[in-house]
Amino acid sequence: MAENRDKATDQMKIWKEGRGAQKPETLTTGAGVPVGDKLNEQTAGPRGPLLVQDVVFTDEMGHFDRERIPERVVHAKGAGAFGYLEVTHDITRFCKAKVFEYVGKTTPLGIRFSTVAGESGSADTVRDPRGFAVKLYTEEGNWDLTGNNTPIFFIRDALLFPSFIHSQKRNPQTHLKDPDMMWDFWSLRPESLHQTTFMFTDRGIPDGHRHMNGYGSHAFKLINAEGHPVYCKFHFKTDQGIKNLSPEEAEHLASTDPDYAIRDLYNAISNGNFPSWSFYIQVMTFEQAEKFPWNPFDLTKVWSHKDYPLIPVGKLVLNRNPVNYFAEVEQMAFDPSNMPPGIEPSPDKMLQGRLFAYPDTHRHRLGANYLHLPVNCPFSTRVANYQRDGPMCMSDNQGGAPNYYPNSFSAPETQPRFMESKFRVSPDVGRYNSSDEDNVTQVRTFYTQVLSEQERQRLCQNIAGHLKGAQLFIQKRAVQTILAVHQDYGNRVQELLDKYNAEAKQPLLPVYLTISEGEQSKMGKRFGSRPRLSWYS
Ligand code: NDP
Repeated sequence: MAENRDKATDQMKIWKEGRGAQKPETLTTGAGVPVGDKLNEQTAGPRGPLLVQDVVFTDEMGHFDRERIPERVVHAKGAGAFGYLEVTHDITRFCKAKVFEYVGKTTPLGIRFSTVAGESGSADTVRDPRGFAVKLYTEEGNWDLTGNNTPIFFIRDALLFPSFIHSQKRNPQTHLKDPDMMWDFWSLRPESLHQTTFMFTDRGIPDGHRHMNGYGSHAFKLINAEGHPVYCKFHFKTDQGIKNLSPEEAEHLASTDPDYAIRDLYNAISNGNFPSWSFYIQVMTFEQAEKFPWNPFDLTKVWSHKDYPLIPVGKLVLNRNPVNYFAEVEQMAFDPSNMPPGIEPSPDKMLQGRLFAYPDTHRHRLGANYLHLPVNCPFSTRVANYQRDGPMCMSDNQGGAPNYYPNSFSAPETQPRFMESKFRVSPDVGRYNSSDEDNVTQVRTFYTQVLSEQERQRLCQNIAGHLKGAQLFIQKRAVQTILAVHQDYGNRVQELLDKYNAEAKQPLLPVYLTISEGEQSKMGKRFGSRPRLSWYS
């Protein structure tokens, strides 16, 4: 049996036979001081007490006490890997960014896949969107394309993000996942139904991270060498093919191998079976954006492939596992505001909100100098600016170079050729209500034209199977939003709910019959409508 173990399970053995063979001779403290005994505390006599002068102990314990950094509020559970992007098609007519300079050019990258709502120890096989975040170390600084495995999102206004996430995480009193909270929010904000519908289809539980697509999701702006702008969306299509898990397989894996997706990615790369994705863009001119039937920057909507066909760009390949999970994955910090010249934000309100939220989070989670960490530092270029000091400065702090600007003492200068593109805005400042900007048409197209009959059936089962955990008035409101998309979609979900609700009223299972009537009714209340284990299964 030991011979058949996979590479992930055998990591310690592989280490010992490889790099571990050149092990350092002497064990030291964190300060490099050689240690004579690492098994026994220094005590006054064999029964203690411990001496404060036992710095071998205090050095070890003091560091251990501080091992954890704050968990990501969202996307806490993840897997990372490294590789490259190779340009296979010329898109310089749209974009001057050096990453697309010529066909054949490769740029190193890091990637992190994740679930969204669960904690860092939660199961990989839950029904949830997946993060698909790419950090490209370009010669013009890092480009972080921080997307998901869906081209859309639940909301279109970033002010709703904290409330949306609260509704998907734990109840403030019970510390339990709460279908009332989830469906209350979703049904009060029907713009979420496009993404909710995606999530309750088969693709809501991808078979690991290799078998799903990735999307930049937001609209961005590309600028070419002549300064001409277009809007754009980014798509990564898996070369492994789409593969999903059934809810039953997912639930089984959640208990037998909750780290299934991390293991799958690690083993594939270790075995030289490098996963890859074909990279495409969609392009929309400013004139087309004016005529688009909806707000083209609405993150709850796609740009149809028929009107805005996929344009091939390149290939993303993953060929290296992290050398150390904490250093390279837990500390990998993605920031959508990292965009090299030639790539700029669109007015997408969600993107604009994320431009602030992501670096703000990293400064809290990792510290003001998080960009000094090797996995985050833009190693393909040289940082030259006027930022100095702060906790955990891990470089020479730019030595004796001037720390103010402008100055007269030989220091980095701005280059007008890297100026952002100009654009006109003239509307009145206000808080514009976007809650009813056609929340149904694209969901209807998806339901009627993209999904097969079997997929529609499974979608309705998955939705009803989760929605049944919410109170009746919330169920009713949720079904109203689904009926607005399509009569058939809403009717099917309602029929299933009627069945589940009727079942919930049935007498209790025989197992309780041996218990006294009072106890039985208490247990019925306790277990009768218990939501299932995984987030949305
Ligand atoms: P297309 O027929 O060209 O595109 C449909 C897309 O749906 C394909 O990209 C397909 O991905 C994807 N798809 C299939 N099954 C699922 C699923 N269960 N969950 C999520 N995506 C799925 O039509 P349009 O571009 O005109 O879009 C029609 C509808 O398709 C949209 O309203 C939207 O709901 C949905 N869609 C559109 C996308 C876009 O960017 N235009 C992307 C994804 C979905 P694949 O090719 O990998 O099978």
